[in-house]
Amino acid sequence: MPAQRLEGRALAQRLRDELAAAIATWRPQVGRPPGLAVLRVGDDPASAAYVGQKEKACAQTGIASFGQHFAATVTQAEVAAAIDALNRDERVDGILLQLPLPPHLDSNVLLHRIDPSKDVDGLHPVNLGHLLRGEPGLRSCTPAGVMRLLAAYDIPLAGRPAVVVGRSILVGKPLALMLLAAQATVTIAHSRTADLAAVTRGADILVLAIGRPCLITADLVKPGAVVVDVGINRLTLPDGTTRLVGDGDFAALEPVASYLTPVPGGVGPMTVAVLLANTVQSYCHHHGLPLIPACEPLV
Ligand code: NAD
Repeated sequence: MPAQRLEGRALAQRLRDELAAAIATWRPQVGRPPGLAVLRVGDDPASAAYVGQKEKACAQTGIASFGQHFAATVTQAEVAAAIDALNRDERVDGILLQLPLPPHLDSNVLLHRIDPSKDVDGLHPVNLGHLLRGEPGLRSCTPAGVMRLLAAYDIPLAGRPAVVVGRSILVGKPLALMLLAAQATVTIAHSRTADLAAVTRGADILVLAIGRPCLITADLVKPGAVVVDVGINRLTLPDGTTRLVGDGDFAALEPVASYLTPVPGGVGPMTVAVLLANTVQSYCHHHGLPLIPACEPLV
């Protein structure tokens, strides 16, 4: 039997519909919609595409956008001043600094400047600290999206071996903490792991966050494993066209895995949906509103 697909696109749409309905109810009481500011620097085409998707999703959900686009030559002080102004702006519930930044800017210093209550990307040390301690806070979008996808398909995690390949602060590390909070037995593999296959073959739940196209082949996966592919890699084909692929070899994994995320259409749409959910979570927090399930973190 081929693996069942974990349909992130459809689940993300359901979450977005729930958020939109709640916003439509709250907006007249509160007197304003939730607001999200996405800051973009320079002209990286991938960043432009991601920011465009986020702003479109905001518009469809009833979230106001306060995005700013800076020239690649912008100074650290100018971006910092923009963050300070957004921290003070009462119309803005969420601030996201689209990465990567040009090399002359220090992204860590700028990320740390965002008010933790508006840190909808969940990358501020305060929010990462809350995750580590199992306290409420804003959770990183992609890992939280993976957790929602697993929950929506009732995939049991407690006591099961879960392997995360990749240890970035954006995906691998926070995801490993979230799986641990959900009672999985978690291993993190990375570029220096001596025998990757021996580790990945032990996983009931295998998450790939590597950034290497089709690196994970069928022989690295336990039959019946749940495979979540976070990777997004653009391949140029011999005819010059391009195609997005994950870190797993989808065709080879389909007969082996029990569940598998498509790329595109798996984790990517969930990342955007959780960004919206985090903005709504922050709006609820700022206005003393009760959280609805669509914006309440699972772990
Ligand atoms: P990163 O480059 O920061 O981290 C990659 C990790 O992979 C590192 O920890 C490294 O140790 C590990 N790695 C590299 N080569 C390896 C190998 N041969 N064997 C084992 N481990 C290896 O990347 P990231 O920001 O964590 O992103 C990972 C992938 O996920 C990328 O393809 C990125 O585009 C994608 N991504 C997708 C979403 C989404 O919404 N779907 C969001 C963020 C990132």
